[in-house]
Amino acid sequence: MKQLVIKDLYVSINDVQILKGINLEINAHEIHALMGPNGQGKSTLLSTIMGDPKFHVDSGEIYLDGKDVLSMEVDERSRAGVFLGMQYPAEIPGVNNSDFLRAAINARLDKPIALFKFIEEMEGAVKDLGMKSEMAHRNLNEGFSGGEKKRNEIIQMKLLKPQLAMLDEIDSGLDVDALKVVADAVSELYEDKEMSLLIVSHYERFLDLLKPTHAHILLDGKIVETGGYDLVSKIDSEGYEWVYEKYGVDR
Ligand code: ADP
Ligand code: MG
Ligand code: MG
Repeated sequence: MKQLVIKDLYVSINDVQILKGINLEINAHEIHALMGPNGQGKSTLLSTIMGDPKFHVDSGEIYLDGKDVLSMEVDERSRAGVFLGMQYPAEIPGVNNSDFLRAAINARLDKPIALFKFIEEMEGAVKDLGMKSEMAHRNLNEGFSGGEKKRNEIIQMKLLKPQLAMLDEIDSGLDVDALKVVADAVSELYEDKEMSLLIVSHYERFLDLLKPTHAHILLDGKIVETGGYDLVSKIDSEGYEWVYEKYGVDR
């Protein structure tokens, strides 16, 4: 079954048209890389799928496993299995990291997770991501370094086990070793055959570790090119100049 289906999606922010007819289908057990120059609408697309009310859907449809995503609130989307690892994770003062996570998990379960089981999973995830165990007990992202925030997003993903995980430049600001740790954690989750991934990244190094099955280029609010891993390599070696030229878009 097709996990995510997006049909002719138009999205605006403050009456400025950002997405101009996005069509995208992601099946179970596919990894899609979403590339494109800065400011073309990649984060807008991911945030719209997650349900950020800042982004106004003018027209179009989004379905997850046949369910109408646009009619759902953010928390319903999360319960339906949508996850967004953010480009700039917010600091939430006064909210304990593990309390936040347990609440997020419980919101998605019919019966609350047993405390013992939660602690075990949380400690496992913190360890897998190479973070200090005290991380779990600090306030959400407060005083975390850039890399720690990114790794904390992956801890959330590991515990929430989403059906569709979207990662927005999760690799930016990570050193080479952290990059590997994060890629390994994502790959491990992806062994779940029902899961699919939509990954925004500018770096072949990260994408090479994850081996996307599909790659897309977003330019001026539209997906203009779709291919396989070869497209990632082409962008890495040639940049975006040819894409601007081919589609007659000014820089
Ligand atoms: P990308 O992720 O591809 O770099 P974005 O989706 O972040 O691009 O941004 C697409 C366009 O939308 C840019 O021109 C950006 O300036 C604009 N934009 C994004 N967020 C906002 C906002 N909150 N208010 C106004 N414009 C925004
Ligand atoms: Mg950007
Ligand atoms: Mg972005």
